[in-house]
Amino acid sequence: MADYDLAIIGGGLNGVSVARDAAGRGLRVILVEQGDLGAAASSATPRMINGDLAMLERRGFWRVRTALAERDIWKRIAPHLVRPVRFVIPAHSEERPPWLLRLGLVLYDRLALHSDLPESAAVDVTHHPVGNALKRPFGTAFEYSDCMVDDSRLVIAHALDAAERGADIRTGARCVRADRLDTWRLAVIDRGRRQVITARALANASGAWTASVAETILRLPLQRAEVGKISQIIVRRLFDTDNVYVFQNNDRRLIFASPYQRDFTLIGTIATPFKGDPAVVSMTADEVAYLCDAANRYFREHIDPSDVIRTVAGANMVMGTAHQPRSGHGGVTFDATRGKAPLLTIGGGEVTTARRRAEWAVSRLTPFYPMSPRWTAGAPLPGGDFEWARFDAQVDQARERWRFLGEDHARRLVEAYGSRLAAVLGDAREKADLGAVFGPELTAAEVRYLMAREWARFPDDILWRRSKLGLTMPPADREALAAFMAVEPGAIGR
Ligand SMILES: Cc1cc2nc3c(=O)[nH]c(=O)nc-3n(C[C@H](O)[C@H](O)[C@H](O)COP(=O)(O)OP(=O)(O)OC[C@H]3O[C@@H](n4cnc5c(N)ncnc54)[C@H](O)[C@@H]3O)c2cc1C
Repeated sequence: MADYDLAIIGGGLNGVSVARDAAGRGLRVILVEQGDLGAAASSATPRMINGDLAMLERRGFWRVRTALAERDIWKRIAPHLVRPVRFVIPAHSEERPPWLLRLGLVLYDRLALHSDLPESAAVDVTHHPVGNALKRPFGTAFEYSDCMVDDSRLVIAHALDAAERGADIRTGARCVRADRLDTWRLAVIDRGRRQVITARALANASGAWTASVAETILRLPLQRAEVGKISQIIVRRLFDTDNVYVFQNNDRRLIFASPYQRDFTLIGTIATPFKGDPAVVSMTADEVAYLCDAANRYFREHIDPSDVIRTVAGANMVMGTAHQPRSGHGGVTFDATRGKAPLLTIGGGEVTTARRRAEWAVSRLTPFYPMSPRWTAGAPLPGGDFEWARFDAQVDQARERWRFLGEDHARRLVEAYGSRLAAVLGDAREKADLGAVFGPELTAAEVRYLMAREWARFPDDILWRRSKLGLTMPPADREALAAFMAVEPGAIGR
């Protein structure tokens, strides 16, 4: 008998979503991730949970409606990670005309069938706070509702849920060979040790590596695989409101500027074709300058490339083009050649539809195994068992229980761990009970929790993925954190 029912290559959002879905349906699952969970494209997304407004111009009405339904599900199952936000599009005489924007937004509202988010509206920016940051005297802007998500924590939450439902999640484990017989036989280098794993089915969810994994590891090349790059910059905070601004640049690309970790602004996105090594995706000087110029057309505060604090870039499969749109399930293909073990390939697709994509993918295996029905739409992710409208109450409760927490600290912790905060803070009565502090607020207790429960092994796993505290951590504290983690015995799989 095979060791597992399903082996998954890749611990990005697609891989962990499949792992969660399949483990919850009773399959024996193993996921191998060569680096850290979510370290590639899944921590470089535009962080949006949306229906993709621009898709309306391509008449993708069904896709928009499906994604908006998923948006409501995310709000229900991950209220700590997903936050409703008012998006703002300033109307600009040289770009899409205001009547077209208004019409598109009315349609967008209608396609969100059961949403409880406020509908779109036209606002007079000369008398509205959203106008304060804008450079030109725009007369009108359009506001509409969508959501933002902490993308890398969404990956961790899925991995946690999958593991709690029995999945074996291995980081630092690279699949180097897979032989397809009546079962799959995988060779994995797991933290330096070679191991052979057998599984009845395989999912290739290796993101930008999908084609190279197919060609060199599975030796079953894909017919058509393009890789795209997404690029974003982080600068100081350019506006005071909680809105996300959507600019129509003069080349008709949509540029987003969103509040990022309280003191910063994230500006993106440019999707461009990518040909290099997915392990080293970086932004060119031209791409940085392009985003600065785009922001400078709209915001009063001027930014130069020298103001960029960090660039965030990732690559992934791009399934389909404007002329040849993707299917409703993103880029999932299923191959069940007679007498051979089944193969799922899951490439690209938006964050918003990841749950549905995984559900669809795992359902392809129903003829092969007895498994329980679909379940992920109704089950909260770890820490998400409260209503999103009660997020502030959750923060207040945390501050009552752990009286030493400041408002911002409590808010960050609830955003990260939701109702599971006690697993991090325990019965601490004062901050000193949480041990050493790195930077403004990362405590030894939180580091220990992340190493013992969330697969963190190195400082960057914590500073850039389990949190974004790398933005504010001084170099000396970073070194102290590295020294602390090097001798801490609690890491999973160490
Ligand atoms: C150009 C572009 C634009 C995008 N735009 C949007 C957008 O507007 N909105 C949106 O929601 N999403 C967008 N995304 C998509 C989003 O980034 C991804 O859909 C999502 O993050 C899922 O990624 P993934 O799991 O497929 O890949 P990844 O997160 O890259 O994960 C793949 C993982 O596989 C691992 N791996 C590779 N080879 C092996 C091996 N041999 N053994 C073990 N592990 C291996 C890698 O280390 C990596 O961690 C965009 C992506 C791109 C590229």
